[in-house]
This record gives sequence, structure tokens and C-alpha cells, in this order.
Amino acid sequence: MRAILTRYPLLLAAALLLPLASQAAPQIDTTYGPLPVFELHSGFWINLHHTLYQEARQRSNSPSSHESADKSSKPTLPVMRAARAPLTAVEQRAWEDAVAYYVVHYATQDLLFSTELLLLKNQLGDFEDCDELSGARKKTCDAGLSPKLTQILDAAAPVYRAHLWPDHDRANRRWIARVAPLVREQGVGLSERLADIYQTRWPKDKIRVDVSAYANWAGAYTTLDPLRVTIASLDARNQGAEALEVLFHEASHGIAQPVELAINRECRQRDKAIPRDLWHALIFYTTGEVIKPVMSVQHLPESTIVSSASPTDQDGSAPGGGYVPYAVREGLYQRGWDDYLKLLTRFWQPYLDNKTTFDDAIAHMVSSL
Ligand SMILES: [Zn+2]
Repeated sequence: MRAILTRYPLLLAAALLLPLASQAAPQIDTTYGPLPVFELHSGFWINLHHTLYQEARQRSNSPSSHESADKSSKPTLPVMRAARAPLTAVEQRAWEDAVAYYVVHYATQDLLFSTELLLLKNQLGDFEDCDELSGARKKTCDAGLSPKLTQILDAAAPVYRAHLWPDHDRANRRWIARVAPLVREQGVGLSERLADIYQTRWPKDKIRVDVSAYANWAGAYTTLDPLRVTIASLDARNQGAEALEVLFHEASHGIAQPVELAINRECRQRDKAIPRDLWHALIFYTTGEVIKPVMSVQHLPESTIVSSASPTDQDGSAPGGGYVPYAVREGLYQRGWDDYLKLLTRFWQPYLDNKTTFDDAIAHMVSSL
């Protein structure tokens, strides 16, 4: 971790040079401002990284993964199969090498829990405006990664840029464009309400969100210190009206520690085992409840109403027009959180309705476990 931290002066220098650099060589505009609360990115390297990770995981999990005896020019890897044009032999080799590297080094690691992957992801985000990561062409683009990884990524980059990135970037931008009006209209209010509920402050700086074609198995994840969110634009669970909830659910990971601490404290006082994931069920429940009134049709900006005219199941709305929270729609409660839902409805909801205090609500939940 220190190795990366010592690079911050360099990153700062890069940031200061940025306006000049982007004037000299116009980059794809990766930041969609000015929105309140969030800073939404569609960054090249983060997308390449998650695409390689996705490909490597699929290869590791697929029983026929080692049958690379296929001599055709068709990519044997499932993600790259979406490429519009066939890969040349050179491209195929660069891509295969990169995937093989990811299989060996990263495929068995979790994007959320591996410090190595977390630091790599953040570093790639910080260098999103660079064409390459070695610093060969521009000193400020030396991302400080290992020589082998730098070579792997720099070799896979043109292949990705030519065959998948245009579609991925378009999907990211579409996702961002759909959620942006809601963030603009409701973002500040929602962030204040959530911070209030969790008895904390919303971060002063905008939360960086990397929108990526692929993310982790859950379709989105959040890493702390610094607080950064990654959301998969191609994931069916993140579409339509639910996009806003996914954003605020993920951001809540950065501010809901008081809940986890309070649950743990109550459990210790009562000599009870700490319930696995109750805090997580609580933030799912809370975000859903806070989003609900915002998503009632009369509050939806026009752009969203247009998009919600598509088949109802896609936009997170119930046949009656009410918003169905993510955890309900994705069946999270039925898959083992049913008891938590009962606790939350009975003891946490009154707190959300201002009928009891934070401490009392947590104490009641824990005592009923
Ligand atoms: Zn979560």
C-alpha cells in the first residue's frame, strides 16, 4: 500500500498538468460533471481491467477452458467473442497473454477483498487519461505498475480499444446519461437524508464512480480509503430506475459504519453472536425506503418517464406504479435475509419514520435476534 501512497505527489503533479494535457491532445471526456454528490467516469483502463478480469474468471470456471486447440481466428474467450471484427493473430496473442496473466494472478482473488486488486483498480482510474501506462511517451503516464503488468496492459490496450471499448464506453455513457438527471434533481436531498439516518456526514468531496462494462459478481462494489464505487453498466440488475438506488446503496457503504458498529456493540453487550450481514441488509432496506418516494412517477424527470415507457419489468416499477426496491426485486430477502426483513420492518422502519431513536431501533433489533 505504501508503494502506491508514495506516488501521490506524482499523481498530484499529473492532476495539475491535466488541463494543459487535455488541450494539447483532446481525450474522451471521462468525467460527467457538474453533477452533485457523484463524479461519474467511463475510464478506459478500469474498463480494460474489469474486462480482463471477467474473461479470466470465465476461463477459469469453464470446463473447456483449456481446449485452446481451436485453430480458427475466432476468439476462444467468451468476452472477446463480442468483438465486431475478427482479431488478427497478433491481437489474438496479446489478448490471450493478458487473459492468461489475469488467470494466474487475479482470477482467484476477489475484486473487493484483495488489497492488490483494490490498489490496481484505483491506480488505473487515476491514469484514465493516459494512452499508455509505461510513461514512455509521457512521463506523467508512468503508472508505477510492475514492468510485466505494464507490458501486458499496454499490449492488450490497442486490442481492447479496437474491438470492445467503443461498445463498452457507449454503454457506460448511456447508463450515466440515464441516471444523471435523477442525480442532479435528487442527489443532494438523498445524500443528506442518508447521512442523517446513519448519524454521520456525507463525504465533502464528490464520490468517484467508475462505470465499467463489467464489475464484480454482484454487479457493483465499493472500496474505502479512498471511497470509490464501481458499477457495471452491462449488468441487468443495474438498469432503469434501479440505477439510482445502486448508486446510493454503494455510496452508503462509505458512510454506514455507525450502523455496523452499533450492531456489534449491542451484540457484545447482550453476549450474542454478531449476525452476519444484518448491517448490509439494513443499508439495502434503508436505501430502498429512501428512494421509494423519489421514484414515484410524479417525481420522475421527463427523460426517465420516457425510458420507463419501456416494458415495465425493466424499470424497477411495480404494475401499480410504485417503486420496487432492489433487495425485493432481486430476491435478496428470500435468499436468507427473511428474518432480517422482519426485524427491519418492525424496529428500523419506526426510526426511519422518526418514531424512535437510532440507538433504540438498533437495541430492539439486536434483542429480538
Ligand atoms: Zn452492498
